[in-house]
Amino acid sequence: MPLDDSDEKVKAAFAGVGRAAGELAIALTGFVDGLTAHEREYAEDLLLPLLPITRMNARRLLDNASSLAERPGVLAALVDGRIDERKALMIVDQLRLLTEVQAVVAEGVLIEHAARSNYTVTRQFAVRHVHRLDPKAAERRHKERRDARLVEKVALEDGMSLLRLTMTALDAAMAFDHVDRIARALDKDERTLDQKRADVAKDLLLGRDTDAPQGRVCVYLTMPMASFLGMSEEPAQLRGYGPLPAPVARDVAVNGIWKRVLTDPATGTAEDITTYRPSARQRELVQLRYPTCTMIGCNQPAHRCDVDHCCPFDGMNTTVANLRPKCRRHHRMKTHTDWSCANLPDGTHTWTTPDGKHYPSAPEPIADPAPF
Ligand SMILES: [Zn+2]
Repeated sequence: MPLDDSDEKVKAAFAGVGRAAGELAIALTGFVDGLTAHEREYAEDLLLPLLPITRMNARRLLDNASSLAERPGVLAALVDGRIDERKALMIVDQLRLLTEVQAVVAEGVLIEHAARSNYTVTRQFAVRHVHRLDPKAAERRHKERRDARLVEKVALEDGMSLLRLTMTALDAAMAFDHVDRIARALDKDERTLDQKRADVAKDLLLGRDTDAPQGRVCVYLTMPMASFLGMSEEPAQLRGYGPLPAPVARDVAVNGIWKRVLTDPATGTAEDITTYRPSARQRELVQLRYPTCTMIGCNQPAHRCDVDHCCPFDGMNTTVANLRPKCRRHHRMKTHTDWSCANLPDGTHTWTTPDGKHYPSAPEPIADPAPF
């Protein structure tokens, strides 16, 4: 099979989706620009006779178009097929936090990062980057967003509903940990873990007792020491989520529910942890140093991954250097197929596809290197 040819076709078609989204945004911006101020109030209604979409859909298309029009550089990257629409909108949204001078500089950096990373990694990078340029802005927005917390009930098909609770990332991490711990402590039965968590969460919300004891909540928060001491506003990193403004994280640290992870000031990778016996400690350090599965593009958090020996176990190599988190799927892929992986001395990790192509996967540092 001419693999390279089909590789290129897939890449070109994917870039085409971004280009089409960019062109739609440009067309819609032109459409709105041609309206009088009065007509603009009903811009979305003017789209309804043109396109077979709902009014809410029309509103969203116009909002997206006007967001993209704010940052011509981002729009150009979308039209060039370098980034997709979701990343483009996220970048525009993050840049709004900055002054125009900062935004102009950050725009290029974020586009460049987005062009080679998936959405989740790019978003985390963007948040960290913006935090670093203006820590206060990130904190202001966090407060604003926190004011928008709510509980929603969404009707699903087949007699089901979705109960959605929008809350701070930290509250959500704690609430999930609480539910998860209780669910895992339940006696084994025919239920899956997802079903058990749903049952536990329901019991807690309805004020009923749970069938397993309610232990202590624990979340992992990584913070450079200088931020903890208030000497720096470098963001903290909440495991499974991403960066949090330093003042928010300091509050948590003071409340004592965190696990302290020091980061190496030179590289920003997890350097040491202060709890647990050695073997658990090693596992924990590997999971903290490499926050996700090491497969390129996989965002499965390390704490839900297996810890894999990259070079097969030889009695001596259960070392942090040879251990990497791999989600169950990618662990099996490595074990049972012709995919392979290797650790390089500089800490990077390389995957080799069944047809022999090599792709590097470098860990995203969980904190930024210190500026000294
Ligand atoms: Zn994976």
